Amino acid sequence: MASSTVTDDSLLDEIRLAIKKICADFPGTYWQELDRNRAYPTDFVNALTASGWLAALIPEEYGGSGLTMEAATVILEEIHANGCNAAACHAQMYTMGTVMRHGSDAQKQKYLPEIAAGRLRLQAFGVTEPSSGTDTLALKTTAKKTDQGWRINGQKIWTSRAEYSDLMLLLARTTPRDQVQKRTDGLSVFLLEMKDLIGNGITIRPIRTMINHATTEVFFDDVEIPHEALVGEQGQGFSYILSGMNAERILIAAECIGDAKWFLDTATKYANDRSIFGGPIGQNQGIQFPLAKAYAHMMAAELMVQKAARLYDNKSAHGIEANTAKMLAADASWEAGEACLQTHGGFGFAEEYDVERKFRETRLYQVAPISTNLILSFLAEKGLGLPRSYGK
Ligand SMILES: Cc1cc2nc3c(=O)[nH]c(=O)nc-3n(C[C@H](O)[C@H](O)[C@H](O)COP(=O)(O)OP(=O)(O)OC[C@H]3O[C@@H](n4cnc5c(N)ncnc54)[C@H](O)[C@@H]3O)c2cc1C
Repeated sequence: MASSTVTDDSLLDEIRLAIKKICADFPGTYWQELDRNRAYPTDFVNALTASGWLAALIPEEYGGSGLTMEAATVILEEIHANGCNAAACHAQMYTMGTVMRHGSDAQKQKYLPEIAAGRLRLQAFGVTEPSSGTDTLALKTTAKKTDQGWRINGQKIWTSRAEYSDLMLLLARTTPRDQVQKRTDGLSVFLLEMKDLIGNGITIRPIRTMINHATTEVFFDDVEIPHEALVGEQGQGFSYILSGMNAERILIAAECIGDAKWFLDTATKYANDRSIFGGPIGQNQGIQFPLAKAYAHMMAAELMVQKAARLYDNKSAHGIEANTAKMLAADASWEAGEACLQTHGGFGFAEEYDVERKFRETRLYQVAPISTNLILSFLAEKGLGLPRSYGK
């Protein structure tokens, strides 16, 4: 990798220590109780916000700490490696980037310092719809220009954290699909202040899922928003969202590396402690090898996450690496989760060991924010030059 930006190791070590300290206040019992009640980890999110970690990627001029992507990956990885879950708040790190790169000065001045100070949360990201799924260009939510601004109608699904966010980054169609010149034109991004709109055109319905993820369906019924809610140029929203997606891939990949480390650490301790047939189960190669293999895959994926983050920081092309990192890291965490569960035998299913919770949580990353199949299609086309298999 030529001349990439590399973040100082001592800074990364400091970040790891600081995050570990915060996570120590949120042990497994905290997450188990939330999980049982499908409740939002407000105290955990407040602790991360108060210590400034969620503003890591906001430049200093807007009150953030202006850290690198590599530093941000270490924050999220460490949260997950310590048994916690950043999914309740990670979106702010990447949705904010769309405002940073494409928002007007007025939008940046208005929102970024408030987000950095923790007075506003930008946690909701409304892209996916029930009928279009991964085929984002087929989304049906519309924004029509009016004298006062824009009128939104439609529905989003899997809009996570919408109930716990002040702002939502929304992708909607502003020109009908059959009237655009390029297939990627005609979608626009809006930044919605949700507080006054909930019950006033916006209806949020929580979706209960196999994990505690605060995800929802959001309905838009003649929702009126001002002109200033448009981010960047009308019709260019798809490219804006895409430009933020690589950051999302890298950050989620880092969470997966953290999960994999947690699984391997937890499994190793258990395999050393659990003694049957006259010795620790960890002395058996049937226990060792799946863990050792997952360990090797985790380390390889970790290097790819680091490479993608450094390319991002260096402003070099990084789409292939970001997608590869996401896929390899999600595979590594799933493999480590499977080996950890198996190592624990029956106890892997018991809530108090946290293995079953982490196992469910890490499974998400085979599907969201982008499924493994779609990453493979992307790599086949962009990396290898094979014909495009979808969305022609
Ligand atoms: C808990 C959770 C939280 C989420 N949070 C958010 C959020 O905050 N904001 C948001 O906008 N979205 C969110 N999502 C949505 C997520 O990004 C989508 O679920 C994901 O992109 C897949 O879309 P889909 O579920 O509609 O599946 P589909 O697109 O219907 O795909 C279904 C299956 O078919 C496969 N498939 C589809 N097309 C192809 C193809 N051409 N080739 C090969 N295989 C294919 C996919 O890989 C997948 O396995 C979330 C989802 C979940 C489950």
